[in-house]
Parts: sequence; structure tokens; C-alpha cells
Amino acid sequence: MKRRLVTLTIDGREVQASDRATILDVARREGLYVPTLCYDARLASFGACRVCMVGVAGARGPVAACTTPVREGMVVDTKDPTAQRVARGVVELVLSDYPADALARDARVAGDTGHDQTDRNELRQVARHFGLAKSRYEGERHTYVKDDRHPYIKMDLNECIMCGRCVRACDEIQGTFALAFAGRGWDTKIVAGTDSSFADSACVSCGACVSTCPTGALDEGAFKAKETIDKTVTTTCAYCGVGCSLDVHVRGGEVVAIDPALEGPSNLGHTCVKGRFAHQYARASDRLTSPMMRRTDGTWRDASWDEAMGFVAERLVAIKEKHGPDAIAFISSSRCTNEENYILMKLVRAAIGTNNIDNCSRVCHSPTSAGLIASLGESGGTNSFADIDVTECLFVTGANPTEGHPVIGARMKEARLRGAKLIVADPRRIELAAMADVHLQLRPGTNVALYNGLAHVIVRDDLLDLGFIANRAAGFEAYAEHLRGYDPKKVESITGVPAKLIEAAAHLYATSKPAAIFYGLGVTEQAQGVSGVRCLANLCVMTGNLGKAGSGSNPLRGQNNVQGSSDVGALPTYLTMYRKMDDDVTRHAFEAKWGRPIQKQRGLMIPEMFDRAITKDLKAMYVFGEDIAQTDPNVHHVEEALKALDLLVVHDIFENVTARFAHVMLPGSSFLEKTGTFTNAERRIQMVNEAVPPPGEARRDLDILLDLSARLGYPMPHRSSADVMDEIAELTPHWAGVSHERLGKQGLQWPVPAKDHPGTAVLYPDHFATPNGRANLFAVDWEAPGESASDRFPFILITGRQLAHYNSGTQTRRTGNLELQPADLVELHPTDAERLGVADDDLVEIESERGKVQTWACVTTRVAPGNVFLSFHFPEVKTNLLTSANADPLTSCPEYKVTAVDVRKVPGVHAAPPVTAKGFRQDVYD
Ligand code: SF4
Repeated sequence: MKRRLVTLTIDGREVQASDRATILDVARREGLYVPTLCYDARLASFGACRVCMVGVAGARGPVAACTTPVREGMVVDTKDPTAQRVARGVVELVLSDYPADALARDARVAGDTGHDQTDRNELRQVARHFGLAKSRYEGERHTYVKDDRHPYIKMDLNECIMCGRCVRACDEIQGTFALAFAGRGWDTKIVAGTDSSFADSACVSCGACVSTCPTGALDEGAFKAKETIDKTVTTTCAYCGVGCSLDVHVRGGEVVAIDPALEGPSNLGHTCVKGRFAHQYARASDRLTSPMMRRTDGTWRDASWDEAMGFVAERLVAIKEKHGPDAIAFISSSRCTNEENYILMKLVRAAIGTNNIDNCSRVCHSPTSAGLIASLGESGGTNSFADIDVTECLFVTGANPTEGHPVIGARMKEARLRGAKLIVADPRRIELAAMADVHLQLRPGTNVALYNGLAHVIVRDDLLDLGFIANRAAGFEAYAEHLRGYDPKKVESITGVPAKLIEAAAHLYATSKPAAIFYGLGVTEQAQGVSGVRCLANLCVMTGNLGKAGSGSNPLRGQNNVQGSSDVGALPTYLTMYRKMDDDVTRHAFEAKWGRPIQKQRGLMIPEMFDRAITKDLKAMYVFGEDIAQTDPNVHHVEEALKALDLLVVHDIFENVTARFAHVMLPGSSFLEKTGTFTNAERRIQMVNEAVPPPGEARRDLDILLDLSARLGYPMPHRSSADVMDEIAELTPHWAGVSHERLGKQGLQWPVPAKDHPGTAVLYPDHFATPNGRANLFAVDWEAPGESASDRFPFILITGRQLAHYNSGTQTRRTGNLELQPADLVELHPTDAERLGVADDDLVEIESERGKVQTWACVTTRVAPGNVFLSFHFPEVKTNLLTSANADPLTSCPEYKVTAVDVRKVPGVHAAPPVTAKGFRQDVYD
């Protein structure tokens, strides 16, 4: 049904609104305060509390503003005395069973409306609005025992008013259904799981319930987050590529709580357990708060900034003079801002004179850049997260969104609940696989064969979008011919996926219009990483799923700013926006701006840096915001390289594993302590805003890098990160319209080619960014992965993330998330476990060609027989001691997802893991 504009009068003002709007929508838009308790804009209207009562001319009595749609000619009085009396009476009844001390607690003098924005307890705001300091009613009150067993979520049902917002938030925002009403009448109450506790329920600790609770019934315990705060700063989460907008609440100069920003474009008022709760690491007692220099006996001592920076600059200059600029290499940080990454790459190229700079995309999404550029033209996801809400079919492959990108995972679950089709291709039975139409449980390392098999069926069964192919693609004939060799039976023999499921998935994907692909590191961290990315692009092209909402190929970037750090040129091969070093026009533009020559030949990629260090060709490394000794593959090799260096500088917020080999540590800033931008996985450049200053002597990262550049004899003119962004925009056509001022709270999705350009939600509406404007279909054969199971190493190890942790776990291990997931556990199928005599919580040894590690077993059908899964968040386990140096040949991205290993029980009696090995969320899977 079409929307209509209607004209109505509200509190004497004549206004227009859509006929889909409610009276409450219009009142809020007009800045009129109508009290509410059961209402949350993120949820379907409920109309239960009757606190938002207003008068409507001609109505038989007051109406609920939150559920009453506006209509033509309506006359509304939000201050109608009868409506106010009804609502006040309701609130007084609610207060009759609300603790008097909670009502009085922290109350501030109300403004004109009684609506005090700094008081985060909505019930107190509403009571103040009606001038209610207490209830007249006496009578029975509930007395519940408080539940504080969860590390973050504290439940005090004595403050619960039964509005049901927490239950609805868990259902409608998160899709987990962990909360419910239980009991009847007076005994009705909110329960988690089967009236156990949050910690023991299916709760994923996203905090949606805490965020929506209008009282202190669900709160963050120690932080007293629902009490008053001094200021709120809106910023962008620093944990994953979703880029959730966060409201950071500050009291007394400290962060006391984080809420999802309701208007956040990529999260729509939602967060996960990391973004919302795991912020205490920024004030951890072992935070680096002073520069440190290594004594000759190997111990650390504090140093002044002047001494430490002077030493670093002097050594770099000396090494450059003696061995040349290419004897120095820098690793930049995909956790840090675009401006910091840009300044570091400028320092490396202009002040040092080398192109030896790389970032962690090398070991995660470099195949995305190479593959998408080659097939479609741009190094970015084609569509937006909002497209999840409109697509007819989601094809999720090599990604585990409900753990790796939880807010997107929740949005996908909601899409599924509204009826979208779901195909999952993953060797593990991840949470989304359990609710999918088709789960293609392929053998690790067989992506390319599977995608070719799907394409074969699409051609064979005439499911092609021939018009799209004719108008917009190149290379179709050769590609279609090549696909003949990938009939479903043959693909079944390679992948282990039954031919019938391959055919079903191909039909589902190709006949759903539109259909969207979302993929992750299970595609890129393969020896055929680039080929996998290109095969997925092929599927989009053949079915016309590009250039329109709800379609496309969308990489889920791992770290928060993998996209941005690469966009701004912290790579050995490119200047900003993937313009090659040997592109003379671009290089000369940078040289003219920077006043220094730039090398034309590419620099070293991260694995090459390690090789050159071992051969003594590389003398110095500066590692900014990365922990390469824990996260890069084949740890022994990395350690050998780091030991061989004459100078290793670690610029970080903690003494990380890499710092064991460092000569100097420079204390930087967390995302809460600086201003700049991150770019998320949908190409959205978003503001990061400083909420609190860095602790102790720690400095803002941009200041450290500018200081270093000046000491290297190349002072830069920038006064702020906004200044730096202006220079990026000046030198980068795709970012020409970007400035901090314009980004505001919504950000902008590149390309933004002009100051008045609104940004680009969907790429390629009418042509591709390739030289001929067409998408390049790419024929490639599947090749066996670098390692396969053998008698000596009969299992295939897959590595990946846990929900509560983030990459090296540096931050999350220093928060309450450690209680939720306190160890890296190895998942093992029950039939394998039985054969090996292994049970849950047994200590097992996992061995590969390169070494062995030990951890506890988790016996589960999440993995297929013959496969094991291990996360990599705990340095004690050293998962990457096992992984190999095999890599994608074009990008050097490691083959983390396929490692041949042996698994055996460690004999004897050992300490049990910190929690049962079934761990977090077992009920979701088993
Ligand atoms: Fe959002 Fe990712 Fe941060 Fe979670 S970790 S709050 S999903 S950006």
C-alpha cells in the first residue's frame, strides 16, 4: 500500500506526516515530550503500559500515542488533562511496586518538562515528569534475590516493571529468544532460559536487554550504568568490520558504560558483547603508560618520550644511511584510524623513502582486494548492510557472522525470520547453518570447486541472467565452457557435498531476486583465496545480482579498519584507493604534495619482511598496533625473524607477544582516546571521537607518528586528524567529498567524489570500474590445498574466532569476556573423540609439521568427522605455531583454514578448563 501524507494538528501546530506514522512518532519529531515506558523505537509498538496517553479530538477517551496512527485532520493534545490523569495514575501504580530507594537514587533537579536527559533511568524520568516522588499505594511488594552471576548483566527483578522490552529486544533485535515471561498474574516474571541465569541460558550477552530496560532491573552492576553520567560521546566500535556506532557514557573522566547509538547506520541501535561491554581493557592495570626501553640485561626500564623517540629516530636514520631505506619496514594497524594509517604510510614513503609498509589485511582480506578489483573494479563490498533487510536470499560462505560479526549475524537471523532464504557453505555447522535452507558442509580447502559446481548448475539449468551477461560481462563463453568440468557429481567427490544439495543451492540462489553473497576469511585465508573471491563474483555476474539493492558480493572484514587502512595506502603495492606505485600520474601528485620523491617499485609484504629479516637484509621493523608474533602463521619463523632484527619498535597499548623481541615500546591510545575515522565493511567512513584522554604518559597515536616524522627530518604540517583527512580527500578522487565535518553521525560510503555527493550505497548500478566497464568472468580450476590429511597428520585443522574475543584477544582477555569464554578449546567430532578416547574437558595435544600445542577438548557435532576447530585468542595455546606458510600466490595471504594435524589425548590427570568445555552457547548447536 502506498504511503500518503496527511495533515494534522498537534498541540496547536499544523504538521504533515506519513499516514504510517504514529502520534508518538510525530510528537517526537516535533520535539514534544510524551512519556513512555514500554516503547522503544527499535521494537514493534506494544501499547501495553498506557503511559503515552494523549487526547484526540472526537475520540471517546485518551489514546495510546505509540500505537495510534495519525490521520487526516486529526487534532492531538499531548497535554490533555484527562489523558495526563490516566497516565499519571498508571505510573503511580507502577511505582507502588518499585523500590523507593531506586526511585530516589541519583535524582537530579528536573528541567521544565521533568525529562532529564542525563538520568538514564526512564522510569525516574517519567515519575519526575508527573511530579511523583513516591506512590500513594501501599501493599504487597515483590522481593526477589538479585542475580549477579553474569560478568556484565545484573538482574534485579525488584526493579522490573514488566514492560517486556527486554524479552522483545532479545527476540526482535538479536533473534536469540533467550528471555521470556514466566508464571501467571502476580507471580509473572522475566526469566532467562528456563529460569536459570543469564550465564546459563542461550544469552549471547549482546546487551540489547540492558540497553532497552527502562529501569535498573537490567544493569551493568559495578558500573551503575543506568545512573547519571557527565557526557555521552558518539563513536565507532573498534572491534570488527561492522562498525557499530556507540554512545560512550563518561562519568568522572572514566567510561562507565557503552550503549548502541540508536541512529547508527550499520547497527541500528544494536551491539554485541564486545562493542557494548568489553571496554575496561582501556584502563587495565597492565596498560602501557610510559615509553619503555630495553636494558642490556634484557629487562625493561621507563624512559621519557624524548629519550625513546630520540633513540628510535637516531637508529632508523643510522640504518637508512648504512643499509638504505629498504632495510627498514613498517607494519601499520588495521585497528587504528584512517588518518593514522595515512600518516604512517606518508612517513614511510616520504621520510624513510621505502614502500615497505603493510597491514594485517595481508593475512586476512588481501585476496578480497585483488579479487574484487580484477573482477569488478573496486576493492570494496558491492552493497550495504541494509540490503540484508531486503534481499530474498542470503548466501553466507566462509563466514560465521553470529560470532565474528554478531550484529550482522543478528540481522541475518531476523531476515531469515521474515522469510528470506538462507544458504550456508561452511565446513562447520555454525549457528546460521542450523537455520539454513541448505547447508553445504564442504571439506576445508574446496571452495573453488564448490563455487564452480554451483555455476555449472546455473549454466546447465538455464538459470542465467542472459541480458545482464550480454550487456555487462566479459568472457562468458570461455567461462561457461570451463564449467563443463564441474558437474555436481564430480564436485561432490572433491567437496564431500552431496550433488543434490549443490543443485538445490544453485537453484535457490539463482532464482531468488535479489540474492546477496556474504563471505569471510573462510574464503580468503586459503591457498586459492583470490580465486575464491573471483568465483563468488562470477556467481553474482551470471545471475545479474549486482548494481541493485539486496544483491552483490559482500566481504565481512575482520578487524574494524581493515578496509580503511588499505584504502588509505598502508600497503606495499598501492597509494590511496589501490592506485599502483607505478602509476606515474598518481605518484607524481603525491610527490608534489609531499615534496619528496617516492619509490616506484613495490615494497615488501609482511611474509617477505620476515624472510628478509632472517637473511639480514632487513634491519629494522616498526610494528604499530599489531601482534605479529601471535597472529601471523608459522610462529617459529616469525620469532626467528624478530630475533634477527637490529631494531624492533612496538607501538601499542600493551606489552604484547611481539614486544618480547622489541628494543623500544611506545604507549599509544585506544579508540576511546582519540579522534579520526574508521571505514567499515560496507565502505562507510565513520567518525571516531575521543571520549577520555590516554592514561598516564600514553599519547594519541597520531601525535606519536607526527613526532617521529619530525625527528626523522620530515615535519608534517598537520594540526589535527581533520587536517589529515582533508589531505587524503585532496589526493584521492573517491574520497574528494569527505571531511570530518560532513561525516557527522551517519558517515559516508565511498566513492564520495564531490563535496555535495551523498556517498554510494550500491556499487556498479550501470557499469563496472574495470578498464572496459564490464565485469570479468574468471575461469579457474580447483587446486588441492597446500596440506591434506595423511597417516601422520590425519585431521584438518580450521582456525577461527569465538564470539567473546577478538583476534589476538589482547583487549577482550582483559575484560569480563574472559569469564564468558576463558580458553581456546579444540572442537572435535564425537566419532573422532570416541576413537581417540577423548571426552569433554580432556587435555589434548594438537601437532602439525611445525610444532605442537595443548588445550582442552570440546566434543561437538559443530565440526565434521576428520576436522578439528581451534580459535586463536590465547597466547598460552599458540594456535599459530601449527599453521603453515602456505599462502595465496598473488597476495601471500596465509592458508590458515587448512592445516594437517594429529590430535591425541594427553595421558595423566590435568587441571580442567576454567569452564566446562561445552562452553558458551552450547545449546544453540548440540
Ligand atoms: Fe558491532 Fe562488531 Fe563492535 Fe560487535 S564487535 S559491537 S558487531 S562493530
